[in-house]
Amino acid sequence: MLSPLLQVDPEIFEAITGEVRRQQTSLELIASENFVSVAVMEALGSVMTNKYAEGYPGARYYGGCDFVDIAERLAIERARTIFGAEHANVQPHSGTQANMAVYFALLERGDTILSMELSMGGHLSHGYKKNFSGHSYHSVFYGVDRKTEQIDFDQVRALALEHRPKLIICGASAYSRFIQFSRFAEIAREVDAYLMADIAHIAGLVAAKLHPDPFPYCDVVTATTHKTMRGPRGGIILCRQEHQKSIDAQVFPGMQGGPLMHVIAGKAIALKEAMAPDFRVYQEQILKNARALALGLEKRGFRLVSGGTDNHMVLIDLSAKGLTGQQATQILERVGITANKNLIPYDPRPATEASGIRLGSPALTSRRMREPEMDQICAFIDQALSAADDQAKLDKIHAQVLELCEAYPLYQRSYHM
Ligand SMILES: *Cc1c(COP(=O)(O)O)cnc(C)c1O
Repeated sequence: MLSPLLQVDPEIFEAITGEVRRQQTSLELIASENFVSVAVMEALGSVMTNKYAEGYPGARYYGGCDFVDIAERLAIERARTIFGAEHANVQPHSGTQANMAVYFALLERGDTILSMELSMGGHLSHGYKKNFSGHSYHSVFYGVDRKTEQIDFDQVRALALEHRPKLIICGASAYSRFIQFSRFAEIAREVDAYLMADIAHIAGLVAAKLHPDPFPYCDVVTATTHKTMRGPRGGIILCRQEHQKSIDAQVFPGMQGGPLMHVIAGKAIALKEAMAPDFRVYQEQILKNARALALGLEKRGFRLVSGGTDNHMVLIDLSAKGLTGQQATQILERVGITANKNLIPYDPRPATEASGIRLGSPALTSRRMREPEMDQICAFIDQALSAADDQAKLDKIHAQVLELCEAYPLYQRSYHM
């Protein structure tokens, strides 16, 4: 019980130290990733992982819940305060689970959902055919306008009037513009649909009031805590009082068993961090850095989907560069830059190749990088993607990437951070 990991399981020890090295020595541009604080990691590695706490604070099915109740109550209170919500459920194990619980609470099997199409920037859990949401409900999708590459509200309204969905979902995984909740709300009201905002990606920006607020427009808001929120991997649901009972019942016992109390403690910490003034400064810097990435790429001849960004991400169309998203991410990986391939709107390529890549600034902003570093990174990206297979050139860029990483160290306390 008391032996250190290195002795108990050297293979996993190696894997973890390898991952530490990878995170320290590469430039993380995956828009959905971030680096949690040491305090959050302490909670994740704490004894709260030992505790069963089925139920909710004050109403558990197990004894000994006094201390986990403190943690969960703090997480709930902080989430309500930050987002101005009447109720918060902090138990969903992930963003997808949060969405699932909302569907269970608001819909019957076979009901119609209107949401953004996956290939246009939506999320799997919004009705994609290979996801539970696509099996259980009838999905109708809106997209973006071919020209502006922004949400086409005429189309959203026309689809809503034609299909009379019970639920409209707004919120995306690969969309670099503000989500205009008020416009979705007008349409939802007109067709008497529930409106859910999935702010998985932008929760940190919303918390810092740097993105339009989904309340009071939405009936329910779901979020993840691990993207711009910079907390542990997990989901939360925010809703009006009237949905509290059914949503809580659908999270537990509807869809999950025991909550992950160590993660909920970590969520509470991240939410406390989000209430401090420097969190807003951090979120502002995320926006500045995303804009710097957009500008830096544009001036080097890259085409940005929708022409720019309002949030933490940029979507690049590589089709004019003669590269697929798949090829580009592989080249970038060789110089220590991590990103993901992404479909662009009306992409002629399959998702496995894709014509674009998605870049996000949250993780590097957590490393304290700023606009000048973003510009430097754009130069690395440009040079790497035009170097093709020139190994000497790629090695040279990689060396510069390593130098930049060393100048902005990440976690230096012990082997696992
Ligand atoms: C990331 C994301 C989720 C949920 O992600 P999990 O991997 O299930 O935590 C849900 N919705 C959107 C829009 C997302 O971007």
